[in-house]
Amino acid sequence: MLRLHDTMTRRLMPVEPLEAGHVRMYTCGPTVWNRAHIGNFRAFVFEDVLRRVLEQRFGRVTHVMNLTDVDDRIVKNAMTHGHTLEEETAPWIVAFFADVDALGIRRAHHYPRATDYIEEMVSLVERLDAREVTYRSDGSVYYRIAAFPRYGQLSGVRAVALVAGASGRIDADDYTKEDARDFALWKAAGQGEPGWETRLGWGRPGWHLECSAMNLALLGETIDIHCGGVDLVFPHHENEIAQSEAATGKKFVRLWCHNAFLQIDEAKMSKRLGNFLTLGDIVDGEEGRRPSTVRYLLAATAQYRKTLNYSDESLEAAKGAVDRLILFRDRLDATAPSRRDGDAVKLAARIRADFDACLDDDLNLPEGMGHVFTMVRDANRLLDEGRVDGPGLDALRQLVEHVDDVLGVLPLVDVERAATLSPEDRRMLSERAEARARKDWATSDQIRTALARRGILVEDTAGGQRWRPAG
Ligand code: AMP
Ligand code: ZN
Repeated sequence: MLRLHDTMTRRLMPVEPLEAGHVRMYTCGPTVWNRAHIGNFRAFVFEDVLRRVLEQRFGRVTHVMNLTDVDDRIVKNAMTHGHTLEEETAPWIVAFFADVDALGIRRAHHYPRATDYIEEMVSLVERLDAREVTYRSDGSVYYRIAAFPRYGQLSGVRAVALVAGASGRIDADDYTKEDARDFALWKAAGQGEPGWETRLGWGRPGWHLECSAMNLALLGETIDIHCGGVDLVFPHHENEIAQSEAATGKKFVRLWCHNAFLQIDEAKMSKRLGNFLTLGDIVDGEEGRRPSTVRYLLAATAQYRKTLNYSDESLEAAKGAVDRLILFRDRLDATAPSRRDGDAVKLAARIRADFDACLDDDLNLPEGMGHVFTMVRDANRLLDEGRVDGPGLDALRQLVEHVDDVLGVLPLVDVERAATLSPEDRRMLSERAEARARKDWATSDQIRTALARRGILVEDTAGGQRWRPAG
């Protein structure tokens, strides 16, 4: 049974969707004011691995990820550049999806944009008005945290009133709020600033409001799983709970999952600190790293609740792991069944059970990969000895498929390989495929030799010819 660490109860909890066979999952998405960095992608890759495991275990997942396309930084940049909000965010949204695809992240079923949900957010504030948890000050609408006694349960932040100015701490210079912890549901905007004329007045939504409104609109009042990085626990997710539960009177989220940070030189990778790298920096940079390596690093070199350090060595280790896996898959594809049987079926079954058990234990993919690489070593020995028969080969191939259904690196490698082919290589490969189709073995062998000289090794598999770079 799949268990995940729940931030609310601070315990491992079984995943038991409200509706059998259907998990509703919400993950906080990027603020599209800049290109997302690979720290952000640690969160998105973790969520993708979770989504893949949920799909294996439960069949159906409805996954929603918001795009925050209005916030103070976006407004500031738009005004500086003379752009509308849409013009300002459009290129960053394109870049985000390009990176999502390059990293093999399964697309969410919905990517709601905050600016498309203004009416839903206004209605939600009106519901909160009716529950008397709001107040108005200087044209903005605030949430009165003192009116929600459960505030602080998720993060453990003490629910002690912090009157603005009294503590000298948070927002001490903001006297428009009754309590420094109170947060804006709706922010009054100046004339000439981007905004919306609504029943709440001229302004724009606060960040926390969008996630509550979109959850309600797309997934309902109670959802199964809500994810994000640990930096979102407080105040963002605490505020989402306060908004959603005050409005509906129902439990908002059944399981809260938060990933730890990707660090670089012992510090959290963040835009604010300026110590960030984007996928483009790594892939198109001098190192010329591959997306499959980056995905492996983020997904499988540290369990998601452990801090992960970005370094050349960690990338190198990730690359080594992907290479070992791909070589093994290629070898299985190129091997003909032998007559002797060395119990590869049993080996595959045992490793599959171990791999699944690691994922069931709070998504421990690194430990799961440890079992997979033990299997690779043992299976390679059996292959060397000619002791893998037909059923054995099938079982090993299916195991690799099962593992990569979660890990998600093999299709990336195939894309990466294809990108390194020259047009001439491509022509020769297709000529060879045609020669084989008409059983012209002499031509096919001739082209194979010619390709080998060009550094391309071709093997014939049950699914047709497959090639890989030599060396
Ligand atoms: P943002 O665009 O800042 O709202 O962040 C999008 C997601 O990335 C959130 O789930 C953050 O918690 C997460 N995140 C930001 N920085 C990091 C980091 N260095 N490591 C892991 N997750 C991060
Ligand atoms: Zn959110």
